[in-house]
Amino acid sequence: MTTEAALREQICLLAKSMFDRGLTGGSTGNISARTDDGGLLVSPTGTSFGQLDPGRLSRFDAMGALIDGDPPTKEMPLHTAFYDTRSTAGAVVHLHACHSVALSMMPDADADNFLPPLTPYGIMKLGKVQLLPFFMPGDAAMGEAVRGLAGKRSAVMLANHGPVVAGADVEAACNAIEELEDTARLAMLTRGLNPRMLTAAQVQNVVTKFEVPWET
Ligand SMILES: [Zn+2]
Repeated sequence: MTTEAALREQICLLAKSMFDRGLTGGSTGNISARTDDGGLLVSPTGTSFGQLDPGRLSRFDAMGALIDGDPPTKEMPLHTAFYDTRSTAGAVVHLHACHSVALSMMPDADADNFLPPLTPYGIMKLGKVQLLPFFMPGDAAMGEAVRGLAGKRSAVMLANHGPVVAGADVEAACNAIEELEDTARLAMLTRGLNPRMLTAAQVQNVVTKFEVPWET
């Protein structure tokens, strides 16, 4: 069991780590986690991942009422869409990550399976990543699009915007979204170079061995 104080520290520490490595810049990116009482801790609106304050995170109770802290990120509907449709979601992270966004702009991007099969780890940590269309900032349709997946995907890519990933806890969600960005980076680095990707049989072996949800 994680105490709330420890969870607050962990959220800020991992956010800063991602900021320091250039995974999301300025005041972009947002992060949330379930608390033991069924509530949520959420990064406040307008904050930088480099400077999140554990004492000022938005705190929601189990009924979804803001009970403490600063007002939450404006992208809150993305987070609640995951929690409401995936009972296993303990944390959600969203970044404006450069290579993922670049890959989302490629004309041949596969909406059903956004990441090419370059390494086993992207498959293991993310399953199939759904590419969603472009939405205007603040458009409620973004959250609706995630709800439309009915909890089948733990990771989505918002075209021309950034990835959103749910995980069992903060660490798992952060590790998974980093894997998404790393795989997108590899895809952009090797684009046009005819890279030797995993074969369909190799992908299937990974899916089977690691029991990855992978509907076809
Ligand atoms: Zn965003």
